[in-house]
Amino acid sequence: AKVLLTGGNGFIASHILDILLKRGYDVVTTVRSQDRGEKILERYPHVPSEQLSYVVVSDIAQVGAMDQAVRSTPPFDAVIHTASPFTQKWDDPVKDILEPALKGTVGTLESIKNHAPTVRRVIVLSSFAALINYISPPKVYDETSWNPVTWDAAVSNPRLTYPGSKTLAEKAAWDFIQTRSPSFDLVTINPPLVFGPTIHFVPGLDRLNTSNQRIRDLVQGTYRDTPLPPTGVYLWVDVRDVAEAHVRALKTPEAGGHRFLLTAGYFSNKNLADVISTTHPELKDRLPRDAVDDTPADVYGFDNEKAKRVLGVTYRSLEESVRVTVSSILEIADRS
Ligand code: NDP
Repeated sequence: AKVLLTGGNGFIASHILDILLKRGYDVVTTVRSQDRGEKILERYPHVPSEQLSYVVVSDIAQVGAMDQAVRSTPPFDAVIHTASPFTQKWDDPVKDILEPALKGTVGTLESIKNHAPTVRRVIVLSSFAALINYISPPKVYDETSWNPVTWDAAVSNPRLTYPGSKTLAEKAAWDFIQTRSPSFDLVTINPPLVFGPTIHFVPGLDRLNTSNQRIRDLVQGTYRDTPLPPTGVYLWVDVRDVAEAHVRALKTPEAGGHRFLLTAGYFSNKNLADVISTTHPELKDRLPRDAVDDTPADVYGFDNEKAKRVLGVTYRSLEESVRVTVSSILEIADRS
């Protein structure tokens, strides 16, 4: 089968790509520039160009941006859309975060509908951020939970910009399925904070993907003498489990029309520090001395059963995930 993977150079997408290639899928991936595409190909010198190639889509928010990328010979069977901004720094919330997320997602669906009639399934990498409800939080988060954030709130409150981008993009994708009746169905994957090894090209630790940054900061001794920042989101999952869920969603017919909350469970920043001190005792001196666990006593519950049941996903432990994440951070530090 042949798959279009958007944003194939990203932290999570690189793992998706890796599994797809190992399982014999043919993959075309989109990137924003040629050098990013070449970096992907460099990782797979023995994979022929019929099995792996890239297309440059420089601005995913433009009308028709994906029209060329969705056309291929032989044609695509499925699309996995992961390209979307995930950063804590931006100049303009609309141009830099909200539009690429929203227009990128709807534009991709539109291009598939217009130019790729063989596509039967589209998988969108959404987020737990599209579930989080600060206004009236549910006792237990599951696939029925939706973030009530509005466009205006996402534009004006920087804390809601990224969650807003994921929520509004995912909502628009489900709306598209309902109102436009395309010949494909939709699956969304909704992970909370994702930790794990980096297999994509990272030029230096200052350019590490957003979700691994708190582990990097602990490893670098940032919180040795200063208090840990608030944990914020108390759920996590390993990147390899997230990637596996995407690939399983490709060939699980009954996944169609469903969201999947993927989480291995709770963590806190204090937890991360404790785990690092056991997996990498040589780093103990850099870790916080008197850290406090900030998990609220009445922290929300979660239900991660659906992904296990329907997709057969299993969840790696925090210790296993942190161990390999720290190792890959140390490798990048050594290299750069
Ligand atoms: P990365 O930053 O490593 O990957 C982001 C990908 O999206 C890159 O390929 C990046 O391309 C691309 N991208 C970013 N901005 C744009 C844009 N304006 N136009 C086109 N492409 C863009 O992060 P992750 O792998 O963690 O994130 C991938 C997806 O997973 C995102 O949709 C994110 O919201 C979602 N997610 C991540 C979680 C996490 O904890 N990591 C949790 C939940 C969801 P480039 O390299 O050119 O910038």
